[in-house]
Parts: sequence; C-alpha cells; structure tokens
Amino acid sequence: MKITAIETQVCHARMRNWVFVKIITDQPGLWGWGEATLEWHTRSVVGAIEDLSQLLIGEDPRRIEHLWQMMYRQHFWHGNGIVRGTAISGIDIALWDILGKIHGVPCHELWGGRVRDYIRLYCHLGGGKMEDFYQTRPDDASRFGELAQKAVEDGFTAFKSMAVPETMPLEGLQPVYYAEACVKAMRDAVGDSIDIMVDCHARPSPRMGMLFAKALEPYGLYFFEEPCWPESIEDIALIQRAVKTPIASGERLIGIHAFREMLEHRAVSVIQPDITHCGGLSEVRRIAALAEAYKVAVAPHNPQGPVSTAASIEFGFATPSYVICESVHSDVPWRTEVVSEGFTVEEKGRIVRPNTRPGLGIDIDESVVKKHPFQQEVLQRTFYKDGSVGDW
Ligand SMILES: [Mg+2]
Repeated sequence: MKITAIETQVCHARMRNWVFVKIITDQPGLWGWGEATLEWHTRSVVGAIEDLSQLLIGEDPRRIEHLWQMMYRQHFWHGNGIVRGTAISGIDIALWDILGKIHGVPCHELWGGRVRDYIRLYCHLGGGKMEDFYQTRPDDASRFGELAQKAVEDGFTAFKSMAVPETMPLEGLQPVYYAEACVKAMRDAVGDSIDIMVDCHARPSPRMGMLFAKALEPYGLYFFEEPCWPESIEDIALIQRAVKTPIASGERLIGIHAFREMLEHRAVSVIQPDITHCGGLSEVRRIAALAEAYKVAVAPHNPQGPVSTAASIEFGFATPSYVICESVHSDVPWRTEVVSEGFTVEEKGRIVRPNTRPGLGIDIDESVVKKHPFQQEVLQRTFYKDGSVGDW
C-alpha cells in the first residue's frame, strides 16, 4: 500500500481559512482527512505541506510513527512552528484516519479503546477587545451576563469568555475592575452549577496576569487561561501557585519538549494542546501520557474546522485525563454542509456520544469546500492607546 498524493484544500470560513489535508492512497476509495488550519499563515502551511509531501509519496501510510519521524528528523531542520507543528500535524491526522479505515474501527479503538461514555463540550462567548473596554463603563458588564445566559440556554454547562481586556504591561485599577465586573455578571447570570472559564489570550504581562488572577479568584473559575505569554513559564507557575484557580495554557506549544518544560515547572493544572499544531494525534498522545504522570488535566484547544474537532473527539475517547473539549457551533451557517460526522452531539448538556464509523468518522463534501475558496483573513492589528503594538 502506498501514498500516491497529498492535497490541501482551503475553505474560507469567516474568521479563518480551514486547511484540509487529503492523503490519497493507491487503494481505490481509500483516503484520509487531516486539518492544518493556521490563521494568517494559510499560504505558508499549504507550501509546507507540499514540501513535506515529497518525503511521503510512495511510502506505506500504515507506518505512521515511521513517517512522523521522517517528517520531523529528515531535511535536517526540525522546522519552525509551521513545518514542525502545523504541517506535520495535518498530515499525521490524515494518516490516522486512513489507518482506522483500513481496520474498520474508529481511531479511539486503535489506541486502547474507549475510556469514557461521553465528552463534554464548552463554547466561547468572545469579548475582550480594546473597544469593549473603552466603550463600556466598568460597572456595566451586563452584556457578558446575557451571553452567558444564552450559552446555557443553548445547552452548554461550560463556556469560556475573554473577560480580560487588552492591557499595557502595567495599568491601574480600571481594567481589573472591568474584568471582575464581567465575571461577576456571568456568575450572577448562571449560578454556581455552570463552569466559567476566562481566556486572557496571553495578552497581559506577568504582573497584570497576576492581578487579574487574584481579582477573579473569588468567582470559582473552572480554569484561567494563558494569563501571560506561554514563553514565560516561570511566571505562569508563579500565578498557578498564588491562586487556587486552576491555570491553563499550551495552545501555542509545539511538541512534547515544550509541554515537558511546562509540566516540570508545575506551571498549570490544565494543558491545552492543539492537535492541528502540536504535532498531530501521534504527538498529542505522547504529550497526554506525559501529563498523566503529573495528573494534569487535558482540554484541547479546538476553534478550527470539523476535522480538528473529529480528531479532538477521537483523542478524548481514548485519553483518561481529558476533561472537556472546546467547540465551535456558530462560526459559519454552512458548517454542517461541509462535513458529515460519525459522532453525535446531544443538545441537552452539549455532550458528544462516540463516533462509530472508521477512522475519524468524517466525510468532507469537497463541492462545498470549493464554494468557499481562500480569502485573506481580516488582519489582526492591535495597538495600545499610545500607538504601541499590543497582543491580540
Ligand atoms: Mg486560548
């Protein structure tokens, strides 16, 4: 059995271009789907996959680990984030889809079988843009309460928000009061039985991240995400030690070595590998095994397209420390037209029941993909009020 072609298919989905990877074999009707969506770097990813495919054409798709090692270690350069992370991930996910199809079982059955009956999903409320902060009075955060209530009405028992505004490396009390007011509004709206998460997008400096973490501690967040740059692992660890709120991070980390460092520093209670960037299903399973030794929870980052979601779900059904999965349900109205999924979502409680189809259990309708060709993503330009560059 041989790989005969590796294609990328780009599908513009409002905020991002989904990059689907299709690996075709010499067996009639046997192909696999992967995803390598990397916002604002779409053309680079497509090129990186074309480069890597030169290594793989003619190889046996069943030798996934062997091919992963080739992609990572051959060509001398271990690659930057786009090659080492996203391009390898997209190809690796498609290879696992093929292997499941060859054996006629869902991917999670290849990895030791199902470890749970269902997976809980959470949604994202958004928020946290600079304009929110400057146009909203710190004592008027009711909009967050309304969004929270809507998420619960939609069946979610957990949601995430960006209640922490963009801040310069040091600011006074206003943004801290604003974040606190937003979280209070959400807690008041939904009560204590719903899990609330706050994502800082790693925008605060370590000191501002600490101030936000302390201010939000009384509200019992399920987790507090990326309170400062993921490169500042020692600072994340300081925040983790300073508050009882579980700290989460890792969506931008690539490879097991980066997660090892985060775990060794006891920096987080939750790791958030992104399967389309961290090295694919092969690498995320190694990362989860490492996290298991520290008894750290796993909650994958998953705001991309439907192949990423299917991969995150298959991974969750075979991973003991997996606690919850990010989900996108309202990015584009035609999301359900582009994919047919093997798992089912129960609206009440927003839980996923296992996929019963082979591989990732998905089918991509390529005619729908073609209707939404590449478009330049809206550029994310963030500047502080003095004109200096900020983090989005
Ligand atoms: Mg995040």
